[in-house]
Amino acid sequence: MAPLECSSIADFDVGKTLGTGSFGRVRFGTHTGTNQHFAIKMLRKRDVIKSNQVEHIKSEKKILQTLSKDQHPFIVNMAAVFQDPCYIYMIIEVVIGGEFFSYLRNAVKFDNQTARFYAAQVVLIFEHLHSMDIIYRDLKPENLLLDREGYLKITDFGFAKIVPFKTYTLCGTPEYIAPEVLLQKGHGKGVDWWTLGILMYEMLVGDPPFLDADPIQIYQQVLQCKLRFTRSYDQDAKSLTKKLLTPDLTKRYGCLKRGALDIKTSHWFDDTDWEALLKRKLDAPIKPTLKSNTDTSNFEAYPEDVEKAVPPEFDGPDPFADF
Ligand code: AMP
Repeated sequence: MAPLECSSIADFDVGKTLGTGSFGRVRFGTHTGTNQHFAIKMLRKRDVIKSNQVEHIKSEKKILQTLSKDQHPFIVNMAAVFQDPCYIYMIIEVVIGGEFFSYLRNAVKFDNQTARFYAAQVVLIFEHLHSMDIIYRDLKPENLLLDREGYLKITDFGFAKIVPFKTYTLCGTPEYIAPEVLLQKGHGKGVDWWTLGILMYEMLVGDPPFLDADPIQIYQQVLQCKLRFTRSYDQDAKSLTKKLLTPDLTKRYGCLKRGALDIKTSHWFDDTDWEALLKRKLDAPIKPTLKSNTDTSNFEAYPEDVEKAVPPEFDGPDPFADF
């Protein structure tokens, strides 16, 4: 994706809301100068400051900029970033097929082949991120989008961090949180491999393995790590899931000497052609229905109430001055 000449939201026709995040919306937008379509992530500065998330947003921007130089096929690219008094705007490649989450909930669960196709892409994503010392830390079906060919693109780098060794911040979604994050003794790339195990289980069963309305109960289940598999759960998938959902980091697949290779050569992936997958030469098991390249019907409908933009209040220097 070529860098985009733009410096203000006035350079775009802003359309429908595609999704919402903690600090604002992501909208479909057309760059009027080139007629290219994008996802515009709008972050309300006021809310970012109130929730003490300025550093996370700065890190998200930096990581997206770094990753966009490589243009990995399964990672969203960012074309531009700018701000005005009320908002930060990230101009991101639009992934038009909708949220992977919606496809999974509609299907309830996926067959073995479909789950394997998508898990394999997540393996390639993490392998790439980890090679750059980036931990993602927030894998879940909501952060995966489907492109027009039915391939994944991972989005939302709000929790991602450049970490050569260990970090200590407690973050992630309760159902996907790894035991070492809960124990707060420092965590590293291994957390991503744990979340891959949770995603595999959720795709093959329909629910994540540790589930409760109360997050505290989920955390207890995570620490106990008792896994119950359905009868239909493929035996090779089961063996890999157990290797990923291993609390002991000296035994968890992905964290050993051979890194991602232990996962890629596990029997569940015996038939996976990794090179063809990376080159997007395989036929995807799910193909989004799209009438045109501006068809946003695969996204949920959101009320389009026009919010009144209020600039942030802060004491001292503008926290976004160096953004
Ligand atoms: P985020 O705040 O990055 O988690 O984004 C919130 C929601 O906006 C996501 O769950 C998607 O529904 C939507 N979204 C985010 N990025 C994109 C994108 N690049 N293309 C299409 N939709 C997106």
